[in-house]
Parts: sequence; structure tokens; C-alpha cells
Amino acid sequence: MKKNKCPYCGKELSFFESVNIKENLEYYCEICANKSDVRAKKSLKTLITMLIILTSVCVLIFSFIFRMLIIGSVVISGLFVLFYTLVPGLIILKRKE
Ligand SMILES: [Zn+2]
Repeated sequence: MKKNKCPYCGKELSFFESVNIKENLEYYCEICANKSDVRAKKSLKTLITMLIILTSVCVLIFSFIFRMLIIGSVVISGLFVLFYTLVPGLIILKRKE
């Protein structure tokens, strides 16, 4: 998996840092004390849309088949895990101008 780096000092972000920065519009580097802009690639929007559609489909299907409710929650959790794994690769850090 491609790691995100601080555009100033090249410090590699941990997976959790990468996941967290998507919530903010800025990344603050603790090593060099610089702030970077957080940009999301276009494919991130596509991914989010796909996740919403897939989750809704799963909820619809599995709520009709009650016996499969447990499998349904496993599938949905799996989708979210996959999503969070992909997110760091879809974020770019840019120096502030
Ligand atoms: Zn840095």
C-alpha cells in the first residue's frame, strides 16, 4: 500500500493518521510543524458513492431475509474495512502556497 508523506520533510504517515486526515482539510506535521492541504483524488468520491449504494443494497437484501442478518452485518463491516483500507491511497498532501 502506498503511504502518504509529509510534503515538507517526507515523514511517512501511519495508516491511522492517513485515515484521520480525511476528516480534516489540513494535515499538521508534528515533526516539522508545517501544515499541508489535504486533497482527495476524484476516485474517492466514486468510492464513497459505491460504498453507499452497496451498503443500501445489502441492508435491503438482508433485512428481507432475516436469517441472513448476521451475514449481512459481516458483509457491511467488510465493505467499511475495505473502504478504510483504500482511503489513504486516495489522499494527496500538498504544500500550502
Ligand atoms: Zn513534516
